Amino acid sequence: MQQVDVLIIGGGAAGLFCGARAAQRGRRVHVIDHSKKPAEKIRISGGGRCNFTNLETEPARFLSENPHFAKSALARYTPWDFCDLMAKHELTWHEKTLGQLFCDQKSGAVIQMLLDELEAAGGQLSLETSASDIERVDDGFEVRTSNGSVHCQSLVIATGGLSIPKIGATSFAYDVARQFGHDIIDTRPALVPMTFTDAYRDAFSSLSGVSVPVEAQAQSGPGFVENVLFTHRGLSGPSVLQISSYWHTGEVIAFDLLPGIDPLDWLRSAKASAPKQTLAQLFATVFPSRFADYLVWELGFERTTRLGALSNQQIDTLAQTLNAWELRPAGTEGWRTAEVTAGGVATDALSSRTMESKLQPGLFFIGECVDVTGWLGGYNFQWAWASAAAAAEVA
Ligand SMILES: Cc1cc2nc3c(=O)[nH]c(=O)nc-3n(C[C@H](O)[C@H](O)[C@H](O)COP(=O)(O)OP(=O)(O)OC[C@H]3O[C@@H](n4cnc5c(N)ncnc54)[C@H](O)[C@@H]3O)c2cc1C
Repeated sequence: MQQVDVLIIGGGAAGLFCGARAAQRGRRVHVIDHSKKPAEKIRISGGGRCNFTNLETEPARFLSENPHFAKSALARYTPWDFCDLMAKHELTWHEKTLGQLFCDQKSGAVIQMLLDELEAAGGQLSLETSASDIERVDDGFEVRTSNGSVHCQSLVIATGGLSIPKIGATSFAYDVARQFGHDIIDTRPALVPMTFTDAYRDAFSSLSGVSVPVEAQAQSGPGFVENVLFTHRGLSGPSVLQISSYWHTGEVIAFDLLPGIDPLDWLRSAKASAPKQTLAQLFATVFPSRFADYLVWELGFERTTRLGALSNQQIDTLAQTLNAWELRPAGTEGWRTAEVTAGGVATDALSSRTMESKLQPGLFFIGECVDVTGWLGGYNFQWAWASAAAAAEVA
């Protein structure tokens, strides 16, 4: 049986980083992953350029049953700490928008950096290795893997969430958590496009590719001022991905189609100054023309309807709809395209300082498998780095 200090199951973002940091403390570390290649989600992230952190990281940008849980780890390992590591490896980055930092080199360079850190510190990585039975023993854990059994003092579970099963996502972390008495907060696909049926599906499909700046809002959670993108199946784009994390089946979502503009003033003054202008022409001054035409139809008017023909009551109703266009999605595209998993290992039985189980000393859960879900824009990697660093201090 192989003897190590720390066995990490899952060689993704959190697992590789935790392995490197624990090994730097002088711990004998072995990271195993069942895939052929490590950290495939880093590879496909950020359109191949890995949005590796966000400068606006703060606990309020993470969803969890316990909104305080992420505070300690995020405060102790910041976006700048990861930037320092990138700089040490001569990697460069740029801010795209809203504090989102992307690697100038390809995502593969970030993976290589993590692998180099692990190797330099003497950590071992075994790919195409899966774990089956985990047994608690007096001085740690015995784990049966497809390459033999391993005894470890500390066992770190870093197998991520359920999104994108075709690149190796499994429910392993939740199964281990349940085995050792932890609760799981219901998991659901998050940062995921939303789907519609019937007339809306047909309409949105015909608008496929059109993008409109909006403020999107689910029934709970903050509003997000970003673009909505029409797709063949429904709606996507950053604003919709963001609110998908807060949305529950059956709920309505609302779009302010003119964020920052008072639609009542806008409609009234347009009617007063250009009564012969059609509603479609007015809408085309602020929306892409395909969406402008669709909106006129959706609101029950003709393409030829002139502003002068609108009654005050019609203008009031129009303004209300422009302010809060309400839609009820049929669902989401699910695990196939979700960027992350909301929910996961309940935080009440984990130490927020170290990610260690309060029920089973020596057992740790880090990264996406924990019930901490970041907004779109680099927050999920920052959670992976910060939770990994927290565990690596003591594992
Ligand atoms: C398309 C896409 C784009 C994304 N872009 C971004 C982005 O730009 N910025 C951002 O912050 N976040 C992004 N994310 C989210 C981010 O990738 C994850 O939040 C992050 O990778 C989670 O890190 P993790 O280490 O917890 O899990 P993962 O990175 O998923 O790693 C888990 C590892 O465990 C292995 N594993 C799973 N089950 C087992 C098992 N049973 N036995 C052994 N090994 C197992 C997997 O093979 C994998 O290597 C994106 C996600 C997707 C899907």
